[in-house]
Amino acid sequence: MPNITNWNSDFDIIVQAGHENTPDDKTGGESQWGKEINWTPIVANEAVRILTTANVRAKKIDASIKTGHTGWECKLAVFLHFDDPDNGSSGPSVGYPPGHGNEPAANDWKTLYKTYWPFPGTWHNDNFTADEQGYYGYKFTRTTDAEMLIEFGDLSNQEQALWMRPRLKWLGALLAHFLSKRSGLGNVPDPGPFQTTGGAHFIGLAASKPAGAAAKKIGTAKFAAKPTGKTPHYHMPSYAVPEFGPASGMPWASAVPQPKVNWYKGIVTDSAFTFSGPVPALYYESKFAIDADGSSGDAQDDPDGQTDTSLHTANGVALNSRTYPFIVLPLQPTKPDASRKTIQDLGAKLGDLGVVIYETGKVIPVLYGDKGPAASLGEGSMGVAKALGMSDSPTNGGINASEVPPGVVHVVFPGTTDEKNGRTKRTPADVAKDAMALFNKLRGKK
Ligand SMILES: [Zn+2]
Repeated sequence: MPNITNWNSDFDIIVQAGHENTPDDKTGGESQWGKEINWTPIVANEAVRILTTANVRAKKIDASIKTGHTGWECKLAVFLHFDDPDNGSSGPSVGYPPGHGNEPAANDWKTLYKTYWPFPGTWHNDNFTADEQGYYGYKFTRTTDAEMLIEFGDLSNQEQALWMRPRLKWLGALLAHFLSKRSGLGNVPDPGPFQTTGGAHFIGLAASKPAGAAAKKIGTAKFAAKPTGKTPHYHMPSYAVPEFGPASGMPWASAVPQPKVNWYKGIVTDSAFTFSGPVPALYYESKFAIDADGSSGDAQDDPDGQTDTSLHTANGVALNSRTYPFIVLPLQPTKPDASRKTIQDLGAKLGDLGVVIYETGKVIPVLYGDKGPAASLGEGSMGVAKALGMSDSPTNGGINASEVPPGVVHVVFPGTTDEKNGRTKRTPADVAKDAMALFNKLRGKK
């Protein structure tokens, strides 16, 4: 039994990200499509962000409560999980202490989620496992309405996992709506169906535009001209829009489409653009393979692993895939092909800085620290994968070419390398500081 010495009553809604910061070995489910410990915080953070914005007193907690002495007195408490059964496939369900009045809230959640969940035969009965009924978290909450554990679905089932994975923030919005409606606080609307084609919509100029001419920005769908012939046509994923879309200050008015790099395996077709200023930049969206090369000790788990990286630290040591935020620059093809461009043709060099973003919506600073196969774009270190909220497993982590779009959005800054004799003086902290400064400069921010 936990020894709770402090009951906190500052919040009406408590949302726990299951497994996050767990003090023991209960790190949750994991499959080639993702890890529960990475997914639950994305949903919980988004739900609490939306509720807080709507002036609801909501708090996100994690699994570190296990060893804590604080409990929460609130209206509603939810504990978020994704299932990963030992055998066969599972599906969504809810759990709660029976006989304590939790059923009406559980039924409301099921009714709402069932209107969107596309695999109706996969639902399980309430409290279908002993863990759901006797979850440790219930001891840390005293609720006036209900407490329940929510299993959103089975992350080891390919169909379910691939449906859920792009929707983690959307699940947070749906949960926020449920909690708001159930508690009568905040009036958070139902987000409606997830928009797979959402995001900003860019139509570039045809590749025949004379070189050097400023491209006319056509921007979001509102301004879109009708695409004609081979005009490049690009949808920015919705999770990238706040930081990279037209309203972020990114100078899309001067963006030049670069369809000649579409030949790379892993690139999202027509996603490449160059910007000439305020700092030169190259934009593209791609897959994200895991590069476990280098000094982290993980290279032996990577089928193509090497203990060296193309770039070394100031001390001459290979970069550490777990701790150094590097992405991979494809090698130059051995045979030139006039119909194609490489990203080196667009200015990219080993050591150049950049930023990347994925479903969490968080900007992650990076640097080109290793070289990889000439025909493949989109690879990076385990540390970057983890920061992006995806699996960092060298064998089955990352996202592969068949899974994009949506992919990882990259903005890199040609000409910012400090590489000398194969070394960079930049520490991970320097990468973070210098890359963010460039990114903000590009967007006209201080
Ligand atoms: Zn779990």
